[in-house]
Amino acid sequence: MTIYNFAAGPAILPAPVLQEAQEDLVSYPGSGISLLEMSHRSKPVQDMIQAAEDEIRVLAGIPDNYHILFLQGGASSQFSMVPMNLLTSGGKADHLVTGNFANLALIDAQKIGDVRVAGSTESTNYDRIPTQDELNLDPDADYVHFTGNNTIYGTEWPAEPEVGNVPLVADLSSNIFSKPIDVSKYGLIYAGAQKNLGAAGVTLVLVRDDLLSRSPDTLPSMLNYNTHCKGHSAYNTPPVFSIYVLGLVIKWLAHKGGLDQMAAQNEEKAEVIYNQLDASEFYRGHAIKGNRSRMNVTFNLPTPELETQFAAEATTEGLVELKGHRSVGGIRASIYNAFPKDGVDALVSFMKEFERANG
Ligand SMILES: *Cc1c(COP(=O)(O)O)cnc(C)c1O
Repeated sequence: MTIYNFAAGPAILPAPVLQEAQEDLVSYPGSGISLLEMSHRSKPVQDMIQAAEDEIRVLAGIPDNYHILFLQGGASSQFSMVPMNLLTSGGKADHLVTGNFANLALIDAQKIGDVRVAGSTESTNYDRIPTQDELNLDPDADYVHFTGNNTIYGTEWPAEPEVGNVPLVADLSSNIFSKPIDVSKYGLIYAGAQKNLGAAGVTLVLVRDDLLSRSPDTLPSMLNYNTHCKGHSAYNTPPVFSIYVLGLVIKWLAHKGGLDQMAAQNEEKAEVIYNQLDASEFYRGHAIKGNRSRMNVTFNLPTPELETQFAAEATTEGLVELKGHRSVGGIRASIYNAFPKDGVDALVSFMKEFERANG
């Protein structure tokens, strides 16, 4: 039986990537020893890290004035590292709060400095993204932070918020490289790799050159972006294997036709499930139309008991990890870049069958 993995993260990886990683695991091409055993100062490893960086730059069209960093500590470490580095002395920042991770980012940033909520959809249980009119942005803020895709609630910003000349900072952990991106609109982007980019253990950070001068010298070395820029992501021992897997995923994305092609496929996959939700009274989508995530489709059934039964029966059909996050319940189908269209079709067939039997 084919297993379709709908996990939210760590999530499905492209089969050819897993295959190649397996082949290279015992003996890295050209070295005869495992990548897991190799020094991060060795030439093959340094070449591998540089190649991953170069491929990311080409795939996403990242301008030369942006540094590409591979850091540790997950996206969650960026919740505090961003304000530590980008808040100026006596400065303030605006946060847009659209879900669980956006809220965690806010909580940590507020421990560092003067950080305000400039937009929130908490009052409707994060079923939408604020409209531009609803944002209460401070033109003197050091930066505006938003979360591009809300992994738990299943909403996604249809476009970046308009923030004028204030640097835009984004947590794109669950939708990075799912569509073309104009990086020049951003000051800083971060994303944990384990959703759309690869294996856990590495966080991709893109940071614009001019913002680096803000980092105070009093910061511990590991928490200062300048350290990692100067050290080319190898100031200390980097997560070599996770960077390698990320590099394979980037190559796979390029091979599949790049970000335009990904956008078309992701649009198509999500639409198949949303059409089924819209055609049914039995299933109820959480996100409002227009703000629906193409990556995480969240929905409810008439009762929590039916949701439990749905997830359990789906598992026996090979549709695994459909249970929603513990904080919202319901069902969540995560269908990142690597998730195949066949799996989406299988889910919709199962939904129809389940409704027929239990509706
Ligand atoms: C999963 C997730 C995080 C947390 O990532 P870690 O790498 O586990 O710290 C942060 N933000 C978003 C949007 C996420 O989906």
